[in-house]
Amino acid sequence: MEVCPIKVASRAAKGFVAAVCIIIVLLEAWTIWHERTAEMEESSRATANMALALAQHADQALDEVDIVLKSVIEQAQGKPLGAASKERLHNFLVRNVGEVPQLAGLFIYDEKGKWLASSQQVLETRFNNSDRDYFQYHRTHRQDAVFIGKPIRSKSTGHWVLTMSRRLNKPDGAFAGVVLATLDIQFFERFYHKFDIGQKGAILFGSNDATVLYRRPLLADSMGKSLAQSPLFRQHISTADAGQVTIRSNQDGVSRVHGFKHLGNYPLFVIVAVSEDEVLQSWLHHAIVRAVGVALLLLAIGYGGNKMVAQVSLRERAQADAVRAQAELETMFELLQKQSRRDGLTGAVNRRHFDELLEAEAARFARVGGAFSLLMIDVDHFKQYNDHYGHVVGDVCLRNIAAAISNAAQREIDTVARYGGEEFSVLLPECGSAGALVVAERIGAAVKALGIPHAATTKGLVSVSIGVTSIASADGFSWQPRELVESADKALYEAKEAGRGRAVFREFIARKPTLAWSA
Ligand code: GH3
Ligand code: MG
Ligand code: MG
Repeated sequence: MEVCPIKVASRAAKGFVAAVCIIIVLLEAWTIWHERTAEMEESSRATANMALALAQHADQALDEVDIVLKSVIEQAQGKPLGAASKERLHNFLVRNVGEVPQLAGLFIYDEKGKWLASSQQVLETRFNNSDRDYFQYHRTHRQDAVFIGKPIRSKSTGHWVLTMSRRLNKPDGAFAGVVLATLDIQFFERFYHKFDIGQKGAILFGSNDATVLYRRPLLADSMGKSLAQSPLFRQHISTADAGQVTIRSNQDGVSRVHGFKHLGNYPLFVIVAVSEDEVLQSWLHHAIVRAVGVALLLLAIGYGGNKMVAQVSLRERAQADAVRAQAELETMFELLQKQSRRDGLTGAVNRRHFDELLEAEAARFARVGGAFSLLMIDVDHFKQYNDHYGHVVGDVCLRNIAAAISNAAQREIDTVARYGGEEFSVLLPECGSAGALVVAERIGAAVKALGIPHAATTKGLVSVSIGVTSIASADGFSWQPRELVESADKALYEAKEAGRGRAVFREFIARKPTLAWSA
């Protein structure tokens, strides 16, 4: 499709405004997206760091308890427990529980699960703990390793506790019972509450067998719940020591950024999770403010751009109008110029323009030489024709004669002019006497061929008399264009004198007139 050049500027202005708007939108979108990514990365780092701190805290808390467990074993293992030593052991347990804040209680069971000693005021003898998982574990495992059980409700206090235990051996290595420490869940709770995890965040303390040991916030089914089926545990926690991952919860539909870390010394892990919505809250607020700002800016640019485009279009239209007006003026000027050079009745070149052309041709001839001829043509007895047929028919006759003359002078460079009244002249550049006479004969014959009746003459038809004159460069004659016309006029006069309806040739330098042809 062709583009109108006049509309190029307004199209360019529109394109410019659109490009500016698109660039602003793209830049803004990129900035907002970049800020979101940075915010998510920052929260991911923060949750990972928090998980690391909590894992170290748990490691330390459990290490302290394990030291106590080991010292209790040292006190109790392989020694007969008489009343005095029982009292000493009880005091030892009580002292340790008092000194280690995370410790809720210390207990020693014999190989049947019977209570041998505890940190409680009164030694319970009603309960048997052989059904507990830690008891069964130690009874069947000879390894000297600490065992961390699932969270349980204390048989004595009814509170949720975590259990940490070691095996008591007889001197021969046979199972002699269990030393158990219970850890106050509130110890972890108090610590975990110090961290800001937002309204929808969570901190989870779990064991590598996917059991939840504690969760903040604590839900009704949190304690002891299995995470074995959760994608977070299956795909991430069970496969890496530490990591960060964003996952949408199946339970509440909340997307959370998780940071997790396994403990260094125990088969446990800690997860810290913060809600993506809360992480992105301030970013979202900021993004909305910026988006509104950009929308206002785009409106302003659109408004200003529209005005600019309208201005440009206006200018273009004015320019187009001016170009059109100029073209019309030029056409009119050309037409006027043409008309000013032509005779209104016959369409032949008028006298004024003929004089100009004759001057120009004379100058050209003076420069380049060659040959040059002029014919003066006069309609015979035209007064009588007018008198007989009327002026209007006379005009038609003149038009027809002009057309016949134009047809006879065929070359592009020949000029037929209405010299005045019923007189015509023909300018024949680069044409010698022979050629001029041929043209004159052709004109005479053409007029005769028109067959225009002229009742007032003896021949009965309209005819013309022609005076022919030529000049050749070999003549070396200095002359004025006017003299050439006079020469042709003389020849014309001679043609009239000789009886009309004929052409008379007259050399431009005075020479005897020669009769060329007769009608
Ligand atoms: P001659 O053969 O000697 O040339 O005779 P003539 O009658 O043609 O000579 P004359 O010059 O006396 O007459 C010219 C006539 O041409 C006079 C005039 O009525 C007529 N004439 C001149 N211009 C026009 C014109 O524009 N229209 C008409 N219809 N007649 C014109
Ligand atoms: Mg005349
Ligand atoms: Mg005449």
